[in-house]
Amino acid sequence: MKKGFSLPIKILIGLFLGVLLGLMCMHGMGVSFLKTYIQPIGTIFLNLIKFIVVPIVLFSMIEGIVSMSDLKKVMHMGLKTIIFYLVTTGFAIIIGLFVANLFNSINVFPMLDPSGLTYSPNEGKHFMQVIVDFFPSNIVAPLANANMIQIIVISIFVGFGIIIAGDKASEAKSLIISLNSVFVQIMELIINLSPIGVFCLIAPVVAENGPKVISSLGMVILVAYICYFLHMIIVYSTMVMGIGKIKPMDFFKGIFPAMTLAFSSASSVGTLPVNLECTEKMGAKKEVASFVLPLGATINMDGTAIYQGVCTVFIAACYGINLTLGQMVTVVLTATIASIGTAGVPGAGVVMLAMVLQSVGLPVEGIALVYGVDRIFDMGRTVVNITGDSACALCISKTLK
Ligand code: ASP
Repeated sequence: MKKGFSLPIKILIGLFLGVLLGLMCMHGMGVSFLKTYIQPIGTIFLNLIKFIVVPIVLFSMIEGIVSMSDLKKVMHMGLKTIIFYLVTTGFAIIIGLFVANLFNSINVFPMLDPSGLTYSPNEGKHFMQVIVDFFPSNIVAPLANANMIQIIVISIFVGFGIIIAGDKASEAKSLIISLNSVFVQIMELIINLSPIGVFCLIAPVVAENGPKVISSLGMVILVAYICYFLHMIIVYSTMVMGIGKIKPMDFFKGIFPAMTLAFSSASSVGTLPVNLECTEKMGAKKEVASFVLPLGATINMDGTAIYQGVCTVFIAACYGINLTLGQMVTVVLTATIASIGTAGVPGAGVVMLAMVLQSVGLPVEGIALVYGVDRIFDMGRTVVNITGDSACALCISKTLK
């Protein structure tokens, strides 16, 4: 690639070439060639990202908390962040339900026959168990297993410990700051590989899923993408403009590298390092971004909420059921709360869809109708998920100034 292009342009070129290669390899031996030789390179890139994400979250979050040097300030920011996340997720699911019902009322959804389908949902967790699982019972396991929410809890405690210990913890504080700079440098090196990573991740997905997009489910996918788009344009633009004082165009331009990575990797957690960089470049305070973004990658899933709304309406329609207003309110509440327990990894949203369907008494087997194209829904919903995290970080950062 010619020297001098900026990273976002290089990523865009990578994405474009990857899609092109995928389209060219849709038939014959193409798919297996891509899966054998190209996908592993994408996996190496994703592994590197996953390897850096734990130290980055741990050290940057502790550094962020310590630099605020005020427990009240941290609690205040945490509360604001959670409210912001719950409200935007609520909007997301309402947009999903509204638009899907609109399309359903003019009969554009394909009438697929759900009889004979099977889908067995994973054991769903009780909401209280989700909360219990936030808290680690030892300090090593969460780091070894990259359990994000538990790493966040550890970081908060260590940060608080350093603040309370005061002068006695000055060495610990400098060590954290110093280690954080080392890992940020490593992260930069890895992020520079994004164009190749994006290229290698997207090509096999396009080759494998290309034909499915033009299948009977194309309409449902289109409706979900319309909602993703509307949510970003209406909700995030309004928020970054009104609260963050950033022009929406500048925001979307700034977040673009993270969006492309989210699209090709379908993982909010995997996109976190790039998202941190993009969001800080747009002016978010470091200590805010390093707190709000890891939390968002774990609990804030607006795209996933939209997907649930759209798929619930679609699956109900296939069973000849029209959702009542009461059922829709249940969907809004279940999806909003359930999103907190969803991991920011590919395919996690399907587990939540089972919960949502169960909450309104729809057969979970209906998931089999959309399961085959889940990756296509997932790419879009992950883009929305990480864009929402960034918008929140920018807004919170502004309100703390
Ligand atoms: N893949 C999504 C994410 O990482 C989660 C989901 O499956 O909805 O944000």
